[in-house]
Amino acid sequence: MSLSYPPFKPCPCGSGRSFAVCCGPRLSGERPAETPEALMRSRYTAFVLQDAPYLLATWHPSTRPATLDLGGTRWLGLTIHGASGDRVRFSARFQEDGRKHILREDSRFVQDEAEGRWLYLDGEHG
Ligand SMILES: [Zn+2]
Repeated sequence: MSLSYPPFKPCPCGSGRSFAVCCGPRLSGERPAETPEALMRSRYTAFVLQDAPYLLATWHPSTRPATLDLGGTRWLGLTIHGASGDRVRFSARFQEDGRKHILREDSRFVQDEAEGRWLYLDGEHG
């Protein structure tokens, strides 16, 4: 599904870059995210594009849900507030049942020892 997004349109993560040079190569598996912030951005984009396989593949096995239901949520925008070490603070605006909400999260990431890839571990809301 992610591959059908127009490559030259601005990336859904709000980086200001085109999808083709931002989250596109991450979702297609061409170029894994080098940093927690890059992974965070690509996962937000995967939520926008309803790319559940990518979200599950970048989720740490210890906290990964068995399935994901991505229907019913419309993502409206991402703001990264700060990133340091293995953490990324962000807020994401979304709409559900006709109402707008803001998700604020301090996410934690871990690096897979064997492959060096970053994985989403968990997050604190608020
Ligand atoms: Zn992006």
